Amino acid sequence: MPELVDVHIVTAKLWRWMRGAKVRRIDASDRRIVRPSSPAAFGRALLGRTVKTVGCRGKWIRIELDEGVRLFSHLGMTGDWVACKRGAPKGASERARFELSGRAAEAVAYLDARRFGRLIVAGHDIPEWTRLGPDPLQDGLNARSLAASLAPRRRAIKEALMDQTVLAGIGNIVATEALWVARIDPRTRCNVLSLEDVAAIVGGLRTAIRTEIKHKGEGEGRFRIYGRADQPCPRCGARLVAIVLGGRTTALCPQCQRRRPHPSRKDW
Ligand SMILES: [Zn+2]
Repeated sequence: MPELVDVHIVTAKLWRWMRGAKVRRIDASDRRIVRPSSPAAFGRALLGRTVKTVGCRGKWIRIELDEGVRLFSHLGMTGDWVACKRGAPKGASERARFELSGRAAEAVAYLDARRFGRLIVAGHDIPEWTRLGPDPLQDGLNARSLAASLAPRRRAIKEALMDQTVLAGIGNIVATEALWVARIDPRTRCNVLSLEDVAAIVGGLRTAIRTEIKHKGEGEGRFRIYGRADQPCPRCGARLVAIVLGGRTTALCPQCQRRRPHPSRKDW
């Protein structure tokens, strides 16, 4: 599933391909991807518009066009954007194509095998976008403000890190790896974490994001514990285990990722 770093890479590609280009033709007939618009209304809103800027926040990409039109793209589980030739044959997973007048790309296509992604056209910023928390790559990470945002929450820290209103763009890979680096059990409730714990989590997030940037494309070898249940912990050698948290499989080391007790909490 595309996370922060993947989305930033796709955004940079789209900016290169679409910058200043006019949308000359649209083929977007997948109702599920373009909902709540109909394919016809989706095409009408974008046809003839010129791309002004392409940016992203967390896992959402925003393409701003003239006349105040905005196209939001979420890659879901398997989404991606590619440049292609005008009239090139349509691949099995292609869900939308935009023919462009620009020089950098004749057309761009949105591919999505599993169809969990979205393409939303609007004349304003959509709530999915405005509700997003800070994007670590654009806004940086700050232990004090993250601690303030986590303090009132009782849910597990890993679920909170993946909550896009807390931080934008953190997915299962970065959350799992960051908590291992921070030596914190992913089930620990947010409201028992000390500022020191949150600072360790911020350090873990930085390490995990940096690894994603540096070693992207090197396959699963870059993961320390993600997807490695039953293998030895690279730090202490204990057997890693897999649990399900918030519907997502999570690897953790039962020996060196400790739950944080808090003296003032009776329910711990
Ligand atoms: Zn360990």
